[in-house]
Amino acid sequence: MPLACLALSEPHGSANFMEAGGPGLKTTAALENGEWIVNGEKIWSTSIAGWNKRGPDLICLVCRDSSVDHAEAKSPAESLLILTVPNNLLNADNFVIRSYPRTAGLTATCGPLVILKDLRIPDRPEYVLARGGQAAVSLLEVSKRGSAVAAAMGLGVLRRAIKEAAAFVSSEKRGGKTNRKVVQTEAAVTMLAQLRMRSAVTEALVNSAATKIDGNDPGAREAALQAKVQASEEAIQCVLEASRLVGVTSYDQNKSILSDLLLDAMGLPLIGGSNTMIRKTLATLAA
Ligand SMILES: Cc1cc2nc3c(=O)[nH]c(=O)nc-3n(C[C@H](O)[C@H](O)[C@H](O)COP(=O)(O)OP(=O)(O)OC[C@H]3O[C@@H](n4cnc5c(N)ncnc54)[C@H](O)[C@@H]3O)c2cc1C
Repeated sequence: MPLACLALSEPHGSANFMEAGGPGLKTTAALENGEWIVNGEKIWSTSIAGWNKRGPDLICLVCRDSSVDHAEAKSPAESLLILTVPNNLLNADNFVIRSYPRTAGLTATCGPLVILKDLRIPDRPEYVLARGGQAAVSLLEVSKRGSAVAAAMGLGVLRRAIKEAAAFVSSEKRGGKTNRKVVQTEAAVTMLAQLRMRSAVTEALVNSAATKIDGNDPGAREAALQAKVQASEEAIQCVLEASRLVGVTSYDQNKSILSDLLLDAMGLPLIGGSNTMIRKTLATLAA
């Protein structure tokens, strides 16, 4: 199965790569004799290792045109360049996987630290996906759609946690005078009802964002960012509450999926720009 990746994030951070007056991205592309020569480091790009550690079928590489001084540029987007790098341009010298972050959750995927050294890409339209303002527009589109996907992941995690808790309380008995099922206690049924309500609120936001994206609604970006913040943070809280409902069994990884879900959920507020930065964007959109 072919793999593609978006390589934007860099080891020393990328939260402010578009900020006017700042240095911009550290990965640079210099145009020489009809070729872009790329040097830099990328990290966290899902699938960048490919299936065999020799890279994916295609990298969408976000970098800085070295001929533009980002700090002095008229617009912060001016230095942006997105190159498409097919696998046949990569080799053991220009594409080196240095290390793999050991992540707490979401372990089915990886985003290793990759060193790009004198990677040569022809300056032809099929390799230059977007430049300047057009590149910024493309990245906003990626952020919008990626946020909706992260929101849907959050919804999936919290629903799974609630399902686990509901199954436990509906089937397990915990002694006492009448040896009733846990769900027959008022505390458990109230907690379960609250979890279902939180799931329904999150689902409404995720559905609304997806519908707005499909309909090219002008409010789609804001809706997607709101859904991402809500769903990713609710996922963590709902997993924690589901584990309180289940009790100590939730702590046993052989018997319950809840602690694994918590580790997955931890990554969700960090994907696609951390929620701290997304809240800043939402404040700008609201102003
Ligand atoms: C599972 C997973 C998959 C990922 N997949 C990809 C991928 O495919 N491609 C890719 O390019 N990246 C990917 N990433 C990286 C992800 O998109 C990060 O969000 C991105 O690297 C930016 O991280 P950051 O927001 O923490 O920024 P950093 O630059 O590391 O900043 C760290 C923190 O400092 C604070 N901060 C920085 N500047 C400001 C400011 N101006 N105001 C207030 N607070 C500030 C914020 O709290 C911020 O979170 C992935 C990450 C994960 C966990």
